[in-house]
Amino acid sequence: SKTNESLMQRRVAAVPRGVGQIHPIFADHAKNSSVVDVEGREFIDFAGGIAVLNTGHLHPKIIKAVEDQLHKLTHTCFQVLAYEPYVELCEKINARVPGDFAKKTLLVTTGSEAVENAVKIARAATGRAGVIAFTGAYHGRTMMTLGLTGKVAPYSAGMGLMPGGIFRALYPCAIHGVSVDDSIASIERIFKNDAEPRDIAAIIIEPVQGEGGFNVAPKDFMARLRALCDEHGILLIADEVQTGAGRTGTFFAMEQMGVVADLTTFAKSVGGGFPIAGVCGKAEIMDAIAPGGLGGTYAGNPLSCAAALAVLEVFEEEKLLDRCKAVAERLTTGLKAIQTKHKEIGEVRGLGAMIAIELFEDGDHARPAAALTSQIVARARDKGLILLSCGTYYNVLRVLVPLTAEDELLERGLAIIGECFDELT
Ligand code: PMP
Repeated sequence: SKTNESLMQRRVAAVPRGVGQIHPIFADHAKNSSVVDVEGREFIDFAGGIAVLNTGHLHPKIIKAVEDQLHKLTHTCFQVLAYEPYVELCEKINARVPGDFAKKTLLVTTGSEAVENAVKIARAATGRAGVIAFTGAYHGRTMMTLGLTGKVAPYSAGMGLMPGGIFRALYPCAIHGVSVDDSIASIERIFKNDAEPRDIAAIIIEPVQGEGGFNVAPKDFMARLRALCDEHGILLIADEVQTGAGRTGTFFAMEQMGVVADLTTFAKSVGGGFPIAGVCGKAEIMDAIAPGGLGGTYAGNPLSCAAALAVLEVFEEEKLLDRCKAVAERLTTGLKAIQTKHKEIGEVRGLGAMIAIELFEDGDHARPAAALTSQIVARARDKGLILLSCGTYYNVLRVLVPLTAEDELLERGLAIIGECFDELT
């Protein structure tokens, strides 16, 4: 019979090493927040396929919606023959994205593609080509998005320079000594040293950084960023690929930020495990590109549209935003209890149920504990818990457990994290 080890040997021979793998495990099947591997071992899933499974694995309503669609049609290409689920999803996203103005939505397949298109649209709408992105940002693995992503190794190392016209500002991060003033000053410095504001099409920001370490943008920073954009005619793009679909306690994180973006990218949990992504924005901005300039063969695939529509229904029917608050509360309390016993945990932070802990050697904020972080990820897996790390310094443990996870499963996961700290520190 198949083992993780034998499959791993085949994988190594058949798949390029550039496609990393955090856990040496091959999944066989899954349900809600549990995954069973090919050897029959069950794991608690605190990774959610990297923020894709806010509604859990195989949510019955989502599977039913996809099955129904499967017997109608799986593909026409929306630009050849349109279908209603695409339009209906766009209508619902337009209503959900914050902003008291007319909106339109473009559907694509991946988060990277959504960001690529947001930049194309911003360029067309402003007639400008420059983009400002932040330190620690993650926006994807295509060429433009690698330029925007604020971490060279491992994402673009060895691949040469990425597209130009991208300028890097500092993301505010109190624990690493970057204040809101520092961050705003870094943008003013770009205007002084690198490019005039009239050459900048957009500033792109994650309201809570995902891969960068679950850093939350302060509200007053967002207000100043919005004001700067308005002053110079620059568009504000909120990349909600990881924060979206209810992770932070509101359907989009920008609902809590006090200002609205001109363009919003979304993906991941919006599709409940099926590939869909998109850009939503002010109608006149979204219409800046002429017919034929947007789209893609599979963009807004009917099966994924059906899944996303079901995700929106599940959020209403199961009151998942309320559930998010309960999950957030439980995780925060549990992680803070572990923190009181272990000085290595410098901070428990996040927004809603997008929660992480940052690890430092001896609690010294100048010494990120990357080795301990990876040891905890490995030890937790041995104990049956799938965790993910993140952060510029590889020293942040993040929780992206489905919001549909049972309380008992959350408790078991937290208990395992506690045990790992007890054993490894
Ligand atoms: N933006 C953000 C904020 C993300 O977290 C990610 C994925 N981690 C992406 C964009 C890229 O999405 P994808 O992997 O679907 O291309």
